[in-house]
Amino acid sequence: MKQKLVLVGNGMAGVRTLEELLKVDPDKYDITVFGAEPYGNYNRIMLSPVLAGEKTVEDIMLNDEQWYIDNNITLHKGTQVMEIDRVNRRVIARDGTTSSYDRLLLATGSNPFMIPVPGKDKDGVIAFRDIQDVDTMLQAAGDYKKAVVIGGGLLGLEAANGLMKQGMDVIVVHLLDSLMERQLDKPASALLKASLEERGMTFLMEAVTEELIGNGRVQGVRFKDGTEIEADGGHGRRHCA
Ligand SMILES: Cc1cc2nc3c(=O)[nH]c(=O)nc-3n(C[C@H](O)[C@H](O)[C@H](O)COP(=O)(O)OP(=O)(O)OC[C@H]3O[C@@H](n4cnc5c(N)ncnc54)[C@H](O)[C@@H]3O)c2cc1C
Repeated sequence: MKQKLVLVGNGMAGVRTLEELLKVDPDKYDITVFGAEPYGNYNRIMLSPVLAGEKTVEDIMLNDEQWYIDNNITLHKGTQVMEIDRVNRRVIARDGTTSSYDRLLLATGSNPFMIPVPGKDKDGVIAFRDIQDVDTMLQAAGDYKKAVVIGGGLLGLEAANGLMKQGMDVIVVHLLDSLMERQLDKPASALLKASLEERGMTFLMEAVTEELIGNGRVQGVRFKDGTEIEADGGHGRRHCA
């Protein structure tokens, strides 16, 4: 009888591991996958082109649902595992689905960091991590005009570029005095900033966000020095306004 392998996390790392296991011995395991997101396996790195309108969600699918069927894999999509019962060797999902295992692979990725300031839970404040976030941003771009992106790292700039391409006015707020400081030295960072400014992106450097303001929905960002800027379709990086 085949061993039961359960994968929790239907993301890039977990499914890539399954691909390798299937190559080595396609009949070794009876495989079940739990994924909290309601899709097949997609290339998360390509979410930025989806936001910018250059690709569709279908374009970035790595393994669609047919792949699971073809490989006799049971996929529980949109099903978040809440508990691992190690004594009885089974996982239990939020909707009550259970699955027993001989081998358990956890590949649950990471959660976006939300800037820990008052107002971070307001409507219109989101992270940039998954298809749902991109859908929310695209919808906001249709309904609102002014976006603030908190974080001038790679993801923040990609989000800002996408939102700009969707017709929003975008201000990028960055804590430090140079963009993408982990990857670029100061002259390179200045060149990048100048080139993005030429394309219409606006920057607020060395700005310490103190609060996301607004009645219900986010309407602006207040900084430590007391100044404020408006935001009506607030978005962000992994953390955002
Ligand atoms: C816009 C964007 C651009 C990026 N660009 C780059 C890049 O250029 N280069 C680079 O190296 N990296 C990039 N990254 C990071 C890269 O996408 C991640 O490092 C990679 O996706 C991690 O793969 P993973 O499988 O570990 O996690 P994930 O891809 O996050 O997958 C984990 C999955 O597990 C699911 N999950 C979590 N908990 C549970 C649970 N309890 N039950 C069921 N399912 C669960 C999650 O919903 C998720 O679908 C980018 C990320 C983003 C968001």
